[in-house]
This record gives sequence, C-alpha cells and structure tokens, in this order.
Amino acid sequence: MRITVSAKLKLKHNAEQKSALDRITFAYRDALNFASKKAFELDKTSSAPKLHKAVYDDLRAQFGLGAQLACTVERQVAATFKIQWTKLKQNLKAREAGQTKRRYKGLDTAPKFVSRTLEYQYNRDYSWKKDGKVSIGTLKSRLVLGYEGYHKHLEYIQQGCETGSAKLYYQKSKKQYYLIVALNVELPDPHPTHHANVVGVDVGQRYHFVATDKDGKSLFEKGKAVGQQKDHFARIKKALQRKGTRSATRRLVALSGRERRFIADRNHTLAKKLLTRFPNAIFGLEDLTKIRERTERCSNPKASKKAKRVKRHQSQWSFAELQAMLAYKAPLFGSLAVRVDANYTSQACYKCGHVSRGNRPKAGLEFVCEACGHRGHADRVASVNIALRTLLVRQDWMSTGALSMRPDVSDVEASRPHSGCRSAQEVKAARLKRYTELRWNPDTSLRL
Ligand SMILES: [Zn+2]
Repeated sequence: MRITVSAKLKLKHNAEQKSALDRITFAYRDALNFASKKAFELDKTSSAPKLHKAVYDDLRAQFGLGAQLACTVERQVAATFKIQWTKLKQNLKAREAGQTKRRYKGLDTAPKFVSRTLEYQYNRDYSWKKDGKVSIGTLKSRLVLGYEGYHKHLEYIQQGCETGSAKLYYQKSKKQYYLIVALNVELPDPHPTHHANVVGVDVGQRYHFVATDKDGKSLFEKGKAVGQQKDHFARIKKALQRKGTRSATRRLVALSGRERRFIADRNHTLAKKLLTRFPNAIFGLEDLTKIRERTERCSNPKASKKAKRVKRHQSQWSFAELQAMLAYKAPLFGSLAVRVDANYTSQACYKCGHVSRGNRPKAGLEFVCEACGHRGHADRVASVNIALRTLLVRQDWMSTGALSMRPDVSDVEASRPHSGCRSAQEVKAARLKRYTELRWNPDTSLRL
C-alpha cells in the first residue's frame, strides 16, 4: 500500500540565501501575473500550449526563470483560467435556472496572483543531497541548504523513498522559508490480523471526541478550553465587522487565517493523541455527511446570548477535518480508519438493543435506556456503538478478505439467496436490525 505524505521542512538559510529565495519567489509571482495578463488578452485562454507560444521566451528572458519553472508558470495560469471558465459556466446555468441573480465576475479582469508560493519538480528544480541537505534552484544558481522536520519524515527521506513535487512556501510572520515535499511512502498492505483492536470514535461538541476500544477503555477529550478560544475569536471578529473600515477588513482576513490554523493545529494534536493511545487498531468514524442536520445553525436574532454561544460552538468545529487527519495519519501508526453508518449511534442501547429517541431524556448528557434501564454517558454510549459497528467491518473483512469502508447491509443481503430486490427503506430497516442485534459485553461478544 502506498500513501502520500506531505513533509514540511524548515529550510536553514542565512540572510544571503534568503534574499536569493526572495528573488525567485517574487520573480515567479510576477511571471504568473504577466502570463495571466497575456492569457487574458488571448481571449482568456486556458490552453497551456497556446500560452507557451505567447509567453515562454519572455518568462525566460524577462523574469530569468529556468525552462522547467517557466513551463510550471504556464500550466498554473492555464489551470487557473480553466477553473474560472468552469465557474462562469456554472454561474450562467444557475442564472438561467433562476437560482441566482448575481453575475460571476472572476473573468472580468485577469486573475491576480498574490502568494509567493512556487512549485518545484523533483530532480529538475530540486533534489536531495547527502548529509541531510537539499539542493534547490534559484534564478542564478542552486542553493544547498540544510533542513529540519518531523523525525519520521526525515527517516523516509533518508531511506530514499520516492519523492514528488514540492512547494516553496514563505511564512511572513517568521521570515522563514519552508519546503513542503510530497513523499510516496510504501507500507505493508493492511491485513485484519495486524489490527488487533477496534476503536469507536464519537466526535461532538462537549467532547471533541470520546473513543472506546474493544476492552471498553475510553478516552475523553473535553472541548471546553477550545470553546473559550473560539469565543475570543468571535468577539474580535464582531468588533471588526462593526467597524467596517478597510484596515478592519484586512485584519479580519488575517484573523480568519489564524483561526483556521488554530483549528487545524488542534485537530492534528487530537488525531495524534488517538493514534498513539490505540496503536494497530481499526478506527471507526461516523459517516458525517449528515452532520449539518444534527448541528443546525441558529439564525434567530432574538436568541439569548447563551443560546447563540452554544450554537456557535456547535456549528464551527471542523469534525470532518479531524476525521480526515485521523484517516490520513492512521497508516503511519500501523492503524487504519473506516467509515461506519452514523444512524442511531446515540440512541441505541448496546446492552439490550433498544433504539429510541427516548433513551436520551431531555437530549441531555445522560443515556437512560427505556427498556432495560441501562445508564451511561451519552457520548460514550455512542462511541461503544461505533466500536461495535467497526467490529462488524473487521469481521466482514476476516470472512470475505475484502475491506469495505462501511458495512453495507445491501451487500450482505445480496449474498443470501432469494433476497430479491429491496427498496431503500427495506435496506435501511435491515441495517437497523443488524445493528440492534449487536450487543456489547466485554466478556463474550466483543472478541476478535
Ligand atoms: Zn437497554
């Protein structure tokens, strides 16, 4: 199994080397804007060969770019125009259908490039050197620089793993260049016997996650401190929006970037915490495509301050991002992530199988089963249910040799004779039945 990892390497550059990097990143950005203007004049073309004829010589002579980088500029500009054309066409359709009145303005002027990020091709613009250094092309010569990074990523590079393209990226606040490199890492193919544990992960508001493994051991991650941080961001945002000046808008843009990075950073940490706590496991994640319905946004202007705060916390945490990071990192920790059906995970009793909204009195934090009286922490109950469904995925994997990313009842039913065609409703009912037959008991049923 091959996975792609992006390694962020901090380049060790002195002042002179930095100014060489400055020159090439600025030249690259100016070249993008030059080519964008030309493409605009050429009937807003999205054809890289057409653009190549028009700008290649200028890109080489006027901006001093190497052959490879000049071609990358052309491709990037052509791709940008293509995206704009697609958006324009979608907008036309939407206007004809009366879905919107707004005209798409993306192609009224030539798209402008602001970022100084440039793309390098491996072995052409950059390559690895011995003793932990990297050689990268600049306008005049090549720089050989040392770098720092996450120790696992450095190991992959040392082992000579296959390298893809890279991005040279400048972080203004730190006055520092980074090289973000795509590494194609070869890992052993997953096999059920390598994954001796199953973990159900319930993501939510009060707790960022509650994870429970096959032995019933749970890990709780509270969301409170983060809620306070989000409140802080919301307060500043509100003040800036009220001000409405140009500089306030600029600060708002910077703030939204900071907030996004804050969440991403936190999600990284949470994913790592789960993966180190439960090694060699199959992580069951809820299929969250319906999360919107569960965390409806409140737009009631008369709602109390507290109600608004609660809603804000609910709607803004990026669960999908946490799950994506977990799935992406899992193979590197000898684990893997699968999606399981999210229906009724918080309403099903894992002791007796009774499923009801009434199992959650006042939709509170406590789970009380109407049928058998079992009580528990509602988020933990959900994580146990997810663990059970994950176990089902593993069992199917063991018996069929194929790993389905979610247990699909229709597949199971199709393998049984005389099942015939079933409506979506019947399939749903069958799925529910299969889940409610699951019972959790550490001594008996949850065995691998
Ligand atoms: Zn029960």
